[in-house]
Amino acid sequence: MELVTDGLVLREVKVGEADKILTILSPQLGIISASARGSRRLKSKLFSGCGLFCYSEFTLTSGRNSWFVQQATVKKVFHGIGASVGGMALAAYLAELTSFLPITDQEGPRQLRLLLNCFYLISEQKKPLWQIKGVYELRTMTLNGYMPQLLCCRDCHAYEGDGFLLEYQGGALLCRDCCARENKTPNLDAGSLMAVRYVCLVEDEKIFSFDLNEKSIPLFSRVAEEYTLYQMERPVKSLGFYHSVVQ
Ligand SMILES: [Zn+2]
Repeated sequence: MELVTDGLVLREVKVGEADKILTILSPQLGIISASARGSRRLKSKLFSGCGLFCYSEFTLTSGRNSWFVQQATVKKVFHGIGASVGGMALAAYLAELTSFLPITDQEGPRQLRLLLNCFYLISEQKKPLWQIKGVYELRTMTLNGYMPQLLCCRDCHAYEGDGFLLEYQGGALLCRDCCARENKTPNLDAGSLMAVRYVCLVEDEKIFSFDLNEKSIPLFSRVAEEYTLYQMERPVKSLGFYHSVVQ
């Protein structure tokens, strides 16, 4: 069977002299693994289109357990990603996180659009890295069925206030008073809670259109990351490298 699909290369593993096994995010197929034979040879017709973080149109054939890349035509290369270590580290983390998701053809197109958008913003340095990272984490959780219950406090239904706890297990929100009753500590202030709500609920086109004051940024970043890792139930190795190069 032969199939043509767009796809973003999330990961490459070198095999033998000139081959690679790619992990690709495809809107129709979700996450797939595909063998690109000979693609590390400079003269190979697969060389450009099979590069890491490259967005290409792939012609695939299916083997017994995996796909084979027959053709790869470049649609977009994010040249700017490699321009900063922080940008590279973030792209690697977002790609690794994505490769662990059970993405189906339902979420595939939106997940791909979101990741392409993030790669573009990293490449062009249009948004700060903390914002790209937090938006991707929270929105990805939302797309994959892990949206927290952000409307109000689980126990007293308070909507506003300075100090809320977003619980990673179950995704419930607790206000400062209800936290105190259970000996728990809030992890969000008013600004970061608003940002979390915004990112999970706003329409796709406006997802990066928010600001956050300096003191709320670390809270937003920490909750987005910890909530995501909790739901993933596995370590994402490239996150350590990101934190070693980005404060
Ligand atoms: Zn409450």
